[in-house]
Amino acid sequence: MDAVAPPDEPLAIFGGTFDPVHLGHLRAAWEVAETLQAEVRLLPARVPPHRPQPVATAAQRIALLRAALAGQSRLQLDLSELDREGPSYTIDTLEALRAGIGRVRPLVLLLGQDAFAGLTTWRRWADLFAHAHVVVMTRPGKEPAWPSDLQREWARRLAEGPAALRMAPAGHVLPLNVTALAISASHVRDLLAAGREPRWLVPDALLADPALLAPYRT
Ligand code: ATP
Repeated sequence: MDAVAPPDEPLAIFGGTFDPVHLGHLRAAWEVAETLQAEVRLLPARVPPHRPQPVATAAQRIALLRAALAGQSRLQLDLSELDREGPSYTIDTLEALRAGIGRVRPLVLLLGQDAFAGLTTWRRWADLFAHAHVVVMTRPGKEPAWPSDLQREWARRLAEGPAALRMAPAGHVLPLNVTALAISASHVRDLLAAGREPRWLVPDALLADPALLAPYRT
């Protein structure tokens, strides 16, 4: 049976705490959007189950994301995890998104290599592939160490290239090299807490309004 390319562009979601958003997030999301010709949505998490609570409130993180994303339309903000009660499990998010977009449109979960390495600890991790493809943003030369369960899924689901993700709604994995920017939100928070300015690690728009990064300047 010939696969028929779905008419819609892939919808890719990039989850995180964004505490605060920085140029590492934005550049990676941008490159994926271009390579996959996808709509990319940044999806801030309210209560991430795997991590300590964010320093900034949800409203503060949203304000930072809105400022960062202003002036372009390729990357969008999706507040559906923040609107939902309880912890944000990715499987719930994907199920809700899938219900919203229907069965045909390709849905893509974007993960950093580190996050992917821990996938088998996520709630109903093997079910994720029923709803979405998984694109792992990699860095050249960095060899991942994955549990054997994950290696098996990887080998079984590996796509030949971005085009394969348009031919099915879900179920493939694909590594994508993105420009390695060694920026982390924790480093940005440390700089701000020490009274320093994270210029050129975060978008200029975050520095233009002193109120935006104030939650980290304690
Ligand atoms: P923290 O330093 O607080 O752990 P973080 O900078 O890793 O935060 P998160 O909000 O936890 O940011 O990350 C969300 C997603 O962005 C994850 O999938 C993570 O792998 C990815 N990511 C974070 N920093 C980068 C970066 N510099 N380049 C590419 N992807 C990144």
